[in-house]
Amino acid sequence: MTDSALRISHITVKPDRIVARVEVAEERHARTTPSLIAMLAPAYPHLLEHACVNERGDTFAAVAGDTSLPHLLEHMAIENQVRMEGERFATGATYVGKTQWESRVRRIARIELSYADDLVALAALRDAARDLNEAVSLMDAGDPSGRLAQRP
Ligand SMILES: [Zn+2]
Repeated sequence: MTDSALRISHITVKPDRIVARVEVAEERHARTTPSLIAMLAPAYPHLLEHACVNERGDTFAAVAGDTSLPHLLEHMAIENQVRMEGERFATGATYVGKTQWESRVRRIARIELSYADDLVALAALRDAARDLNEAVSLMDAGDPSGRLAQRP
């Protein structure tokens, strides 16, 4: 999808984590906004409570409305992992993520995600990217009250 705000251009599955390279197409989408977070909240209700290493606080809430788009993707993927694992195995696993720009100028970021099941992690990341791209395009369409499609 060439018109997507963000795309995953490469994924490496390591023994303890997956490493994804993520590219943000346009500079205007490089950072999150409070309204984007508000749009995602119904579908990702625990996002703001996530533990998060950042310069402003102990949870993702401290930076959510003004952080990199790939950092938001990381936390959405973690929320999907928790939801999917909970439904399938009730493993009680906790997941750790880390996001940094590899090239801020070219808007290429590296996301690392720990996993209990690598296939779940890959699906969680893919679903997060789909939802995030949908939310950004709704914002661009001037429809911030738009709802993400319900997932089964
Ligand atoms: Zn974080």
